Parts: sequence; C-alpha cells; structure tokens
Amino acid sequence: MTGADVEVAIVGGGAAGIGAARRLREAGVRALILEARDRLGGRAWTVEAGGYAIDLGCGWLHSAERNPWTKIAAAQGRTIDRTPPPWARAASQPGLTADESSAFRAALWALHDRADALPEREPDRSLADLLEPGGRWRELLDAVSGFYSGAELACVSARDLGRYADDGVNWRIVEGYGAAVAEHGADLDVALDCAVTRVDHRGRRIRLETTRGIFAADAAIVALPSALIAADEGLFAPALPDKTRAAAGLPLGHDDKLFLSLADAEGFEPETRAFGDPRCVDTASYQLRPFGRPMIECYFGGDLAAELERSGAAAFFDFARAELVGLYGGEFARRIAPLALHGWSADPFARGAYSYALPGRADDRATLAAPIDGRLFFAGEACSREDFSTAHGAYLTGIAAAEEAIRAVRG
Ligand SMILES: Cc1cc2nc3c(=O)[nH]c(=O)nc-3n(C[C@H](O)[C@H](O)[C@H](O)COP(=O)(O)OP(=O)(O)OC[C@H]3O[C@@H](n4cnc5c(N)ncnc54)[C@H](O)[C@@H]3O)c2cc1C
Repeated sequence: MTGADVEVAIVGGGAAGIGAARRLREAGVRALILEARDRLGGRAWTVEAGGYAIDLGCGWLHSAERNPWTKIAAAQGRTIDRTPPPWARAASQPGLTADESSAFRAALWALHDRADALPEREPDRSLADLLEPGGRWRELLDAVSGFYSGAELACVSARDLGRYADDGVNWRIVEGYGAAVAEHGADLDVALDCAVTRVDHRGRRIRLETTRGIFAADAAIVALPSALIAADEGLFAPALPDKTRAAAGLPLGHDDKLFLSLADAEGFEPETRAFGDPRCVDTASYQLRPFGRPMIECYFGGDLAAELERSGAAAFFDFARAELVGLYGGEFARRIAPLALHGWSADPFARGAYSYALPGRADDRATLAAPIDGRLFFAGEACSREDFSTAHGAYLTGIAAAEEAIRAVRG
C-alpha cells in the first residue's frame, strides 16, 4: 500500500491497534499501522528465556470466558491453561498461615466491594479512603494495589476500580499472550520503526509526521499509551488540551516482571505464590514454578518498581534474591539466576505498565475515548470504562474505534 492509498492510519500496533486494523481490513477499509518499535504487540510481549515462552507484559487472560483473545489464541492453535491463578487460592506461605492468608483475601475483597458500592452520585475518593480504620493489612493491601494498579491505594480512584468488570476467570496461553497478540497482526499492513511525532488534523486529510516520513489518511485511530499522550502537548496540531488533560488523569502505573531460573524446582508445588514480606509495602510477589516450569516469576509494583528501575537492572535481582533468601534460607541464593526482565516505566514507547485513574478522574476514560471531528478516533486500554489496564480491554476499544472509522470513511 502506498501512503496515498491509506484510508485509516492507526498510530500504535499494540492489542488495540491490531484489533482495529484487522476489523478495518475485514470491512474492506485500507488501513496502515504506524508502529514505533521493531515489533508488533506493545505491552503484550512474549520472549524466549530458559527454553520457554515467557510474557514480560500481559500474561493473564482476565475475564477469560468473554475475553476475545481466548478465542483468537485457540484459533491460532495455542494451548489455553485453565489452572486458577495463585491469588484466587487460599494457601499458606512463609510468613502467613492459611488463616491469615484467607483473612487478607477477605480484607482485599471487602475493599473492592466498598469501591463497587460507591454510589455514582457521591464524590469519588481514593481507595485509601475506603480502608477500615486501624485495619490489620494496610501494608499488604498497598503492596497488592501496586500489583493491580501500579500505584499505592492513596493514588487510585475508588470509582474507577469499582467500574472494573472482573468475571473472576483467569487463564493463560502456554505459548505466550504476547505471541498471540503479535500473530493476530502478522499479515496486516504495518510500518515498523515508524514513530509518529505529530498528528496534524488541520487539512482535508490527516497528516502524520513520523520518523519514516509523512503519511496521510482520511481518518486516524490513535492507539497510544495514555502516558505518551499526556507527555506531549505538541502531539496534535491543533493541540487537543482535553485529551492531554484526560490522559494525565490516567497515568500508567509501575509494574515489572523479572524471571529467574530455579534449580531443584521439584521441591516446590507448581504455581506456589509467596509475598516477599507480607508486612511491608515494598515487597514483591513470587510465583514459583509457573506452568510447572523450573523458574520464578517475580512481580514488582508501585513505588518499589519505580525505584528499582531507577537503580538499574541488577537492583531487581538483588532485591528478589534478598527476599527469597529471607523466605527460604541462605542456600536458596545458589539456586536462582536471572533470565529476563523488562522495565516498562523506562520504556520510551510505553512509559509505564497499565493505566489507573487518579481520584476524581475516572470519567477521563470517556474523555480520552471520544472522537474528534468524526475522523480522529482513540483506542487503547486507558479508553476502556470497564476493562481498562488489560489486553482484552485494549482490543475491545480498538474494535469500537474501527467501527467508528468504518462509518467515517464509508459513510
Ligand atoms: C508487567 C505487565 C503485566 C501485565 N499483565 C497483564 C495481564 O496479566 N493481563 C492483561 O490483560 N493485561 C496485562 N497487562 C496490560 C496489557 O499488556 C496492556 O493493557 C495492553 O497490552 C495495552 O495494549 P494497548 O494497545 O492499549 O497499548 P500498547 O500495547 O502499549 O500499544 C501501543 C503501541 O504504540 C506504540 N507506540 C508508542 N509510541 C508511538 C509513536 N510515537 N508512534 C507509533 N507508535 C508508538 C508502542 O510501541 C505500542 O506498540 C500487563 C502489562 C504489563 C506491563
């Protein structure tokens, strides 16, 4: 396809952009994805490490029974693993008895229930405002908020979390979620290594300035992470201050995964989960033997993840090793070695892991998603009212934006 033929340009080839482009192609609309990286998938990214496909970005098919990626991955011939996730199972772990673990889970669900019950007519609050005064699990709830939202409870809108639709079914793709997302875009028209620096919507056609020259299109779908839209007031010409402001209300939280190899792994049950220190906010979560593999998936969230990114890659391993030695003894240090890590907050094409709404800013999702002049459309996980922060939410916003773009170019 030459630049002149493009009917709809899609800025960003993540789950949202890929979903949009494929829907447009099904409708016979000539669409081109402009993607800054040298690969498709964005925050969905599977790499090979230790002989296994591992996901450095999304790993769980949340709301799996209605998640469109479940069907797409199955149609690709991939294996859907239906083992319930560690966070859905009550189990003892070092530092917590089974009863304490159940009590913590009850406190977490009670907090979420209070967010769900927040009446729409009442002003929004932070999740920290909904904590029980003097409650016993404050530190661990804050740590888990770091895993869920990438930020501590005081930073997160209760209204937004209350709107999140979680069906409670969580599956995985053995060959990788990121691999499934990338394969879904494999035969689409894509310009890689093509970072869009400006979306100029002054003329009859939309003009996209990129690191690979100028493209023009009748309509465009902007499917960028909210953090990037917030960071660049000059991205649109003329400027779209409502979009910049809405995106700023939906920052991307800090979350990173480190994978470690684990020697003599058989000593642990598959899918064992442990918090490094259940009485501390700055702690990581460890999933031992995911899929039964001889490895550990370490999950860092919130301020801890941000701080470790600032300190460099070795700081993640040092932190994990110290916590794991604290849990399983000094000999454990010899059984682990780093396999793979990605720092999403330092990644120039993401600037964080997934979006949360600041207190009072839940409605920014609708503002970010709203079209401009019937030809500039928006997609991406941050645009989703109920499935934000997920790869399926991103996909669904891509489909919705594509439907609008089809109407725009086909009348
Ligand atoms: C550690 C981690 C764990 C996660 N776990 C889960 C999980 O278990 N389940 C789940 O559902 N979700 C999870 N997520 C979130 C999920 O990965 C994202 O919500 C989803 O992939 C976002 O898709 P998107 O299309 O909205 O954005 P992105 O995937 O970020 O796509 C945007 C694209 O735009 C590109 N881009 C950036 N700048 C430019 C530019 N200037 N010009 C052109 N292109 C540009 C980027 O390279 C990227 O490809 C996780 C994410 C992380 C980081």
